[in-house]
Amino acid sequence: MSFHPQQIAGKNAEKTKLHNRRVVLGYLWGRSAGRAEIARASGLSTQTVSNLVAELEAEGLVVPAGRRASARGQPPVLYAFNPSGAAAFGFEVRPDTLTMVLTDIGGRALTSRQIRLTQTDPATVLAQMAALAQDATAQTKTTRILGAGLVIPGPFGVEGLSVAGATALPGWDPAKIPAMAQAALGLPVHIDKDATAAALAEGMGGAAQGLSSYAFLYFGSGLGLGVVVQDHPLRGAFGNAGEVGHVIIHPGGLPCDCGNSGCLEQYVSRVSVQRHLIARGHLPPDTTGTDATLIRLLAAQDPDLLVWLGIAAEALSRAIGMLENLFDPQCTLLGGALPDALIDQLIARLSLPPGSVARRADRSRPRVARGTSGRLTAALGAAALVIHDIVTPRLEAHKHNSAPPDTLRMETPQCP
Ligand SMILES: [Zn+2]
Repeated sequence: MSFHPQQIAGKNAEKTKLHNRRVVLGYLWGRSAGRAEIARASGLSTQTVSNLVAELEAEGLVVPAGRRASARGQPPVLYAFNPSGAAAFGFEVRPDTLTMVLTDIGGRALTSRQIRLTQTDPATVLAQMAALAQDATAQTKTTRILGAGLVIPGPFGVEGLSVAGATALPGWDPAKIPAMAQAALGLPVHIDKDATAAALAEGMGGAAQGLSSYAFLYFGSGLGLGVVVQDHPLRGAFGNAGEVGHVIIHPGGLPCDCGNSGCLEQYVSRVSVQRHLIARGHLPPDTTGTDATLIRLLAAQDPDLLVWLGIAAEALSRAIGMLENLFDPQCTLLGGALPDALIDQLIARLSLPPGSVARRADRSRPRVARGTSGRLTAALGAAALVIHDIVTPRLEAHKHNSAPPDTLRMETPQCP
C-alpha cells in the first residue's frame, strides 16, 4: 500500500490533533486552568489551545470553572475536566464470571452487575455483555459513552504458560476479540490484562491517585502485576509484562501448572490459600466461595491460616523487594480478589528486604499499601483504559508534533 504525501500529512495532522486533545485534557485532569496557562505548560500555541478548549467544551468534556483572581486586566476564564461529561464501560471476563461496570469519565461507578457464566465461548459472552450494556445505558439514562474496556486473565498467546492462559478462556484470542466486541457493543473496545487495568483503576480513583510510577500486585485466581511508569502502563512486547506469579521465588519448591517449581503464586494467591485450607479440612475440595471462610478464620486467628500468612508474607516480601529494585516505584499496592482484612494482615507481616532502592528518607508514602478500588477493581480498570486513552498523550505521537510539551520530551528507545 502506498500513500500520497498529502494523505500522510492529513493523517499526521489528525494524529497531532488527537495528541494535543490528550495533552489539554490530561492537563485539566485534577486541576482547573486558563487557556494561557495550558498553552505555557504544554508548549502549544494559545490559538491551538483555544480551539481545542472550545471543541472539548462543545463536547461536554471540559466546563468553565470560574475566573482566576488577577491583579490587573480581565481575569482569565478557568476550565476544568468534566467527569460527568461522558461515560465508559468496563468488562471483566473470568472463567466463571462476567462483571460489568459503567463509570463516568472521572472513574466513578454509575452502575455495575456481575453474572455467573456457564458457557465461556466468545459469541455467548459477547451477547451477554451487549445485553448488560443495553440495560445499564437505559437504567442510568447515559447518552454519551466513549468506549468499552475489556479485561481477561493473561498471559496472551503464550504456549509455555498455556495452563494459566489459553485454557482459562478458550477461544479468547486477544488479536481477534476487540473487533468482535466492537461489533457486539457498537463501541470502540480496548483490551488488556486484568492486572494492568487494575493498576490504572487505582491511579484514577484509588490508592495510587497522585502517583506517576507504581506497581500493583493483583490477586485474581493467581497473582498478576501491573506496572505504571511515568503514567504509562508497561505492557511488554506482547502485552505480557507482569506475569510475576510465575517468577521462581523458591527454587525446587512447589510444582506449578506452568512447568516451573517454586513459582510465587504457589505461595501467595487465592488458589494457594484455598489449597492450604482444603488440605487442612477448612474448605470442601471443590470450593468456590472462599471469602466467608477466610474472614471467619482470620477473625478467630486460626493457626492454620496464620501459617499460610507467614509463608505468603515471606514470599511476597522477596517479590516486592525485587519489584522495587527493578521498577523503582513510588509505592507497591496490593488488591483484587482477596478480602481486604486478609490483604491488610499480609502487609502487616511483610519483612521487606533492607537492600532496596525504596528505602528512602524522603518517602511520602509507605513502601506497600492496599489498593482501595475493592472487588470491582479490574472492571473499573477496564473502564479506566478508555478514560486513560483520552487524557494521556502517547509517546509515539511526538514525531507528529512540532512542539512536544516538556513533560513528553523523552526518547523512546528503538530496537535496531
Ligand atoms: Zn508457574
